[in-house]
Amino acid sequence: MQRILSRGEIETLDHNQFPLTIIPNIDTLFSYRASRFQKLVQDNIFSDYLSLMIKLSEAQHIVLNQLNRQKIGIIPDNHYSVPPCEISIWNRHFYWINIQNSILNIIMYESANIPNLVIDTCKNLKRLIQNDLKKFNDIADSLLIQGNGNINKDFAAAAPLIMAALQVYWVSLLSNFKPNQLPISRSILCPFCGSLPIGSVIRIGGNMDNHRYLSCSLCSTEWHLVRVKCSNCESTKSINYSFIEKKSEWIKAESCNQCYTYRKIFLQEKDPYVDPIADDLSSISLDILMNDDGYTRSSNNPFLYI
Ligand SMILES: [Zn+2]
Ligand SMILES: [Zn+2]
Repeated sequence: MQRILSRGEIETLDHNQFPLTIIPNIDTLFSYRASRFQKLVQDNIFSDYLSLMIKLSEAQHIVLNQLNRQKIGIIPDNHYSVPPCEISIWNRHFYWINIQNSILNIIMYESANIPNLVIDTCKNLKRLIQNDLKKFNDIADSLLIQGNGNINKDFAAAAPLIMAALQVYWVSLLSNFKPNQLPISRSILCPFCGSLPIGSVIRIGGNMDNHRYLSCSLCSTEWHLVRVKCSNCESTKSINYSFIEKKSEWIKAESCNQCYTYRKIFLQEKDPYVDPIADDLSSISLDILMNDDGYTRSSNNPFLYI
């Protein structure tokens, strides 16, 4: 459950101290991610897949910037006490299907070196949208709600393509909001859409310096969480940090011996250009290490279902 501060508690917070919620730069979010994937693809054991993610992020950037955001947007009230576009109750505007089709078209017809398997997956998705829209929407719903990997294996190949469209849709909803219009989240769920975080970033610079922010796996909103605290069960006991020496020391796995899960934490101090989704997907070696040590991921990467 989302834990929301009462009005009295909100007033006792010093808002000038550091931001509690950060909304990403909507115009550059996906192009930035594409360039981050581009950098991380070098010498990566997962390079074929990361190359595909470059194309998918570029497609998201193009589609988001072509959108008439007002058409699907929401005009925010002054302040929301609960996440305004919460995934389990928000009715998606039909326009989201156009977003999905546009992404599929770019991947199929305008991107170079796309594997045949991916082209076939795009074709199958387009066919499903045409023939059984309800089933397609049901799959999208299950991806949103069960973003922890418990999806029907038949849809594992299509899932990243659907999540890409859902991200564009939710980010376009977010584009009309200012951080102070969102509820102040003290929990592990996004204050805008209620999704689980992909990981967290220790930010540098300005009044965010040295503070830890969880990053939403769907809309990329960031919200503050104190450091050395499990982002799954919220325990502060038995928190450990693991990383792969001399390789990617800006990425650590924060694991918890109360719930035996982990999420990655990205240190901007060691690499200022981190993107939680891209950096998470590029560090599968750390996942293998953690799994070998008996820990499971707290939640899945929206672009990986295995
Ligand atoms: Zn979110
Ligand atoms: Zn825990």
